[in-house]
Amino acid sequence: MDTNNNSTGELETHKITVLLVDDQAMIAEAVRRSLLQEEDIDFHYCQNPTEAVKVANEICPTVILQDLVMPEIEGLTMVKFYRANSQTAQVPIIVLSTKEEPEIKSQAFSLGANDYLVKLPDKIELIARIRHHSKSYINQQERDEAFRALKKSEARLAEANKTLEKLSSLDGLTGIANRRRFDEMLKQNWHRSIRQSTSISLVILDIDFFKLYNDHYGHQQGDSCLQEVAAILEKTVTRETDLVARYGGEEFVAILPETGQKGALEIAEAMRNNTQEAKIEHVDSKVSDYVTISLGVATAIPERNTNPESLVAAADKGLYKAKEDGRNQVQIGQVVFD
Ligand code: GH3
Ligand code: MG
Ligand code: MG
Repeated sequence: MDTNNNSTGELETHKITVLLVDDQAMIAEAVRRSLLQEEDIDFHYCQNPTEAVKVANEICPTVILQDLVMPEIEGLTMVKFYRANSQTAQVPIIVLSTKEEPEIKSQAFSLGANDYLVKLPDKIELIARIRHHSKSYINQQERDEAFRALKKSEARLAEANKTLEKLSSLDGLTGIANRRRFDEMLKQNWHRSIRQSTSISLVILDIDFFKLYNDHYGHQQGDSCLQEVAAILEKTVTRETDLVARYGGEEFVAILPETGQKGALEIAEAMRNNTQEAKIEHVDSKVSDYVTISLGVATAIPERNTNPESLVAAADKGLYKAKEDGRNQVQIGQVVFD
């Protein structure tokens, strides 16, 4: 086919391609001669109507000139064949007849022919019609191709956006949700809690003596430690709706929707215990031989016209208290609405 996407992805221009199907070689010769001077028109001839559809599929004509009366198959039957064949279904068909017969003419049009010419048409008229039908076909083809290309690039864009969205909500080091995602989800859950009058809990936690860990084991192992702790925290929360995120540095946070204080304390304690039990060596820690965490827990049944910052502030207070009271422990912070 002379219409292809070239290597740069641009559409190449279609060339006018004529397929004449006629049992009389003499007619073919006459048409060929008429088109001889037209450099932008490719002429193909098929004498055997039983091969016409096959030839059309090979050469991809932009217009078909179909003889009406042939010995083996009737020209109008051929029109039906072209229309039924997916590759030629849209190709303009000019029926060539020996005489003007209104009934046959109307039948030809109703079967899907686009034009009707009495043989042998005058050269100027023949060329004008070939050009007219081919150009409208080519235009349609190009519109279809452009449309398909557009759909394809739209689909690619949507895919890229999805990946980007995912990446922009995940923390690069640990692969868990990042601060941005946390802020978004906290707001969402806060408002859902207001609507449904349910409690919501927050856990903020921080690795104990992590500066000393980095100093002793190096920054790279510090990174691995953060990854390990993130994985432990993710494994500890079980509900689909819970969200663990990296809050920043060596601080993590967990949103626990529809969870009261008792439940939140249990989760926080499990996080603390699972971290300690992972036995990540930390020889310079002042509270343990292993990496430990301190946690602050806050719970609220949010009131209308309040924002979730009060919950974050309360959990932060709990964390501060846990650090003050000796680390490797869970403390509660009380929520105060402004
Ligand atoms: P505390 O028990 O009071 O929390 O002491 P700390 O040493 O953990 O707290 P501090 O805030 O003094 O130090 C936090 C350290 O965490 C310092 C910083 O270099 C380290 N840190 C923060 N982000 C990263 C990170 O992405 N990778 C690594 N390896 N270290 C980090
Ligand atoms: Mg710390
Ligand atoms: Mg810290």
